Amino acid sequence: MRQSQLFTRTKRENPSDEEAKNSQLLIRGGYIYKEMAGVYALLPLGLRTFNKIVSIIREEMNAIGGQEIILTALQRPELWSKTDRWDGAGNIWFTTKLNSGADLGLGFTHEEPLTALTKEYISSYKDLPFSTYQFQTKFRNEARAKSGIMRTREFVMKDLYSFSKNKNEHDEFYEKVKQAYINIFNRAGIGHQTYLTSASGGLFSKFSHEFQTVTEAGEDTIYIDDNKKIAVNKEVYTDEVLDSLGLSRQSLIEKKAVEVGNIFTLGTRFSDALGLKYKNELGEDISVFMGSYGIGPARLMGTVVEVLSDDKGIVWPASIAPFAVHLIALGEDMVEAEKVYTELGNAGVEVLFDDRPGVMAGEKFADADLLGMPLRIVVSKRSLENGGAEIKKRNESESSIISLNEVIAHVQKSL
Ligand code: ATP
Ligand code: MG
Repeated sequence: MRQSQLFTRTKRENPSDEEAKNSQLLIRGGYIYKEMAGVYALLPLGLRTFNKIVSIIREEMNAIGGQEIILTALQRPELWSKTDRWDGAGNIWFTTKLNSGADLGLGFTHEEPLTALTKEYISSYKDLPFSTYQFQTKFRNEARAKSGIMRTREFVMKDLYSFSKNKNEHDEFYEKVKQAYINIFNRAGIGHQTYLTSASGGLFSKFSHEFQTVTEAGEDTIYIDDNKKIAVNKEVYTDEVLDSLGLSRQSLIEKKAVEVGNIFTLGTRFSDALGLKYKNELGEDISVFMGSYGIGPARLMGTVVEVLSDDKGIVWPASIAPFAVHLIALGEDMVEAEKVYTELGNAGVEVLFDDRPGVMAGEKFADADLLGMPLRIVVSKRSLENGGAEIKKRNESESSIISLNEVIAHVQKSL
């Protein structure tokens, strides 16, 4: 894509009303636009990264057999009354009314409608197990919205739900989701700082599990065992819990962290309340055993910015960068740069081409640092005199010269 055509622009100054580094950098880069506190639009660059995160998650969900659906944002209160969540969800619900006066809620999670829907299709033990997931917009009236895109009032969630015959079958699937989540956070570039964290459970399991990424920008406090690569959330940090996990206080370090995903054993809480049952081999009616598993792709995107950026700007991992290469043309004569742009495009490399005429080198370099593509390639009069193009990774300080006919091979090797 030609930067001259991109309708967004970078800004030099941090927005005055943003406290979080992720939203400051993303707004300055033209990745996102702030509609109001806790509500952001995704712009072309931001959407590219968001979609790449979604693709990684989708691949991992499909790999464990998840079937993709999309449920509705508009929700009938009746279902939620059956699980005591219409009033119980209190402050978090955005509610509205139909013209007729009937109440409606804007979905903040989807256990109830999915459990009710599933009743239409499940009758026998032969119909189980299975799992479904969606990328769907949630609305939550969050009290604090100071963490940029890591905590917003409207956000897409990937929510996966599993339906099993019994706890054993559920436990097996739960372990598969754990591994899928580890894969997702590794692929998104934050695996090295993300810990499988025991957190409070419910009636059906002692713990739930959160995936917590260590960053000062996080709102949670966790206690990490770096050898075992696991952690405990402050909310369950007691001697009894540590004993049960084989952890000791001496080997734990306290850290701030952000919950990038979480997995939860629901058991029969929703299937009991809403009557989701199957007949076993003996013809008896048994409540389906459920689990739910969430990830916020935008929270993940914000977390990557928090964890990997430096004082010049964003540093995207290649897997989720909007473009692999930021190609910069300097000077009036752009013939060679145009050729490199065409060749990279033909080789299937995603390139942001800074072809803006009359913009000074310093400004183009500052933009490249702010925007954070993994590789920067400069074609200028000077680079051509030196033998070709200057190439450098975003997180390197020195560039090197490569000849123009080596560019593609070099890019493919570096990514
Ligand atoms: P938190 O404890 O951070 O408020 P939660 O436990 O309420 O989150 P879930 O309801 O389990 O979160 O949501 C699943 C996932 O959705 C979270 O792990 C997170 O990645 C994402 N998420 C939750 N709330 C938000 C939000 N307000 N903005 C963006 N992403 C969110
Ligand atoms: Mg949580």
